[in-house]
Amino acid sequence: MASDETVIVIVEDDPNISDLVELYLRREGFRPYQAENGERALEVIRQRKPSLVLLDVGLPGDLDGLDVCRRIRSDSQVPIIFMTARDDEIDRVLGLELGADDYVTKPFSPRELVARVKAILRRVEAPRQTSPVVELSDNIVLDSARREVTVAGEPVALATREFDLLKFLADNSGLALTRRQLLDGVWGDDWIGDDRTVDVHVRQLRKKLGEELRLATVWGVGYRLD
Ligand code: CA
Repeated sequence: MASDETVIVIVEDDPNISDLVELYLRREGFRPYQAENGERALEVIRQRKPSLVLLDVGLPGDLDGLDVCRRIRSDSQVPIIFMTARDDEIDRVLGLELGADDYVTKPFSPRELVARVKAILRRVEAPRQTSPVVELSDNIVLDSARREVTVAGEPVALATREFDLLKFLADNSGLALTRRQLLDGVWGDDWIGDDRTVDVHVRQLRKKLGEELRLATVWGVGYRLD
């Protein structure tokens, strides 16, 4: 999925972090560019037209990460992942509804960050690629145009969020998604504080769709639809 065309801008003033993240992104075939402060970030983003921006919250100079996000959002919907250092930064990121797509807390694993990057890019690119009808197994068919799931031709009654969760998992199939990514992708702004909501809905999906649904629990991460 990553190609030479997939440009990612890393906005981070700590070169140890940006170099490490750049290394991991490069290894996955992305084309990363670095910016060490807010002003430079806006410049690089204008020049390179990235597919995604990794944005440190605490930046030196006149513009911090939140300012940069606001400026980006004034004319672009490019996905943004915040890199936050402290709890109060997370609160600000979440509280200001700046339109960030995800965030990671330092210190983070570069591997996990790359997984988040891929998940978001897949989500963004998904609508162009997926047909409205997806076969989840020999017998389970999801029709997003009709918002209907059938098992061996028989429609199954799913709650709205159950359908949305299944659709989101299907759009990201093969990818282990954290509960938070699922909450973020399916519940959006309503999710805060209730992590087990996902587990409850997964249980319902398994019950209603049966053994054939290849919905795996990934220990320590979340869920993956195969
Ligand atoms: Ca910083």
